[in-house]
Amino acid sequence: MTKQTITAAPNCDDDYDAASLSCDEALRQILERIQSVGETATLPLRETLGRVLARAIVSPIDVPSHRNSAMDGYAVRTEDLPATGVRRLRVVGHSFAGRPYAGAVGSNEAVRIMTGAVVPPETNVVVMQEQVETDGDCIVIDNRHADGQNVRAAGEDIREGTTVLESGRIISPADLGLIASLGIGDAEVYRRVRVAFLSTGDELRGVGEPLAAGEIYDSNRYTLHGMLTRLGIEIIDLGVVVDERDAVRAALHEAANRADVVISSGGVSVGEADYIKEILREIGQVGFWKVAMKPGRPLAFGHINDAVFFGLPGNPVSVMVTFYQFVQPALRKIMGAEPQPAVLIKATAGNVLKKRPGRVEYQRGILTMGSDGQAIVHTESDQGSGILSSMSNANCFVVLPMDSGRVEPGEPVDVQLFHGLM
Ligand code: AMP
Ligand code: MG
Repeated sequence: MTKQTITAAPNCDDDYDAASLSCDEALRQILERIQSVGETATLPLRETLGRVLARAIVSPIDVPSHRNSAMDGYAVRTEDLPATGVRRLRVVGHSFAGRPYAGAVGSNEAVRIMTGAVVPPETNVVVMQEQVETDGDCIVIDNRHADGQNVRAAGEDIREGTTVLESGRIISPADLGLIASLGIGDAEVYRRVRVAFLSTGDELRGVGEPLAAGEIYDSNRYTLHGMLTRLGIEIIDLGVVVDERDAVRAALHEAANRADVVISSGGVSVGEADYIKEILREIGQVGFWKVAMKPGRPLAFGHINDAVFFGLPGNPVSVMVTFYQFVQPALRKIMGAEPQPAVLIKATAGNVLKKRPGRVEYQRGILTMGSDGQAIVHTESDQGSGILSSMSNANCFVVLPMDSGRVEPGEPVDVQLFHGLM
């Protein structure tokens, strides 16, 4: 995302609001005000999957640890390669992977060798088995072979002492294998971050409860559960809190006491529930922001005691959008992970994208490959911030910059894939 500036005065045809923060500025301010948990633990390798590496992995060995063959064939001495014509060599033994040839290889001799097996020290060439003629216990090689061919040097992949993985990365399945390939059985990682979250609203019921008139089921705690669990967060679900001063104050206090980060949803809209502002003013330092984005304009951010606080909007899509754009990068920093800039890819709009200048929009899109091999993105027709099925059906956000207006089919747009985000 590029830096956005407000370039036009507000009018009826746009959403510009001079009091709003740009998304980039909001994220910058958030990241500036938080820090990593710092504490670390050394864990058995398998348990480090998805955790943040706190100490770089340095190779204690050369990989591969020995010179080995890249092919099935015959190991021969450089001096025995014929300059012209052919040469007949006697096969004196075998070198299999894990079972090297124990003897010495003399003049006019060869060793049968398999891929990955130790290349005998006297030899420096492996001739592919398809390129020799066999004749009893002898082979005949021709003159098309080069010194060093099909021989992998020790340390060709990784040299002893090389930093293989930097700290700050989230350990992947490939990383587990890579660390194991060095003979290392554990790794130092940052401790898991604890997040307590709650939903606010008198209208919210839990699954399994009957709904009275005007009530709805609380879905935000489920999306939050999913998004936080994917990140490897230790979660504390504090349930639904009714729109009452004392209940909200008590819940936020408990949350801040038990967790590194507190997330609430609902009750941050302008004018809606001013008591939340009052309580947060009383028990913490929290700013109520208007962010120039859609969905998700209202956002509260700050601290309650030592805990970081995010007050997300109530609408289910807004919760997810603000989580991915702000909370997730912030949690990554708190977890000790290196920042990972949002990856945007170009796609062609497959339909009209309705938009007014003034806010960055995160529309829910479905990215596919067109028959011409071009990435094409279609959007759900209903982009309302309460339409959670639009998130469920989508596989990407179409990110429309602040100043852009309506997009016509065929025009290029930026897309942020859910894959890797969720
Ligand atoms: P609020 O920000 O509290 O005004 O909520 C905005 C909209 O989101 C309202 O329609 C709420 O009913 C809805 N909403 C708030 N919290 C939740 C929740 N946890 N699950 C589903 N919808 C919610
Ligand atoms: Mg509410």
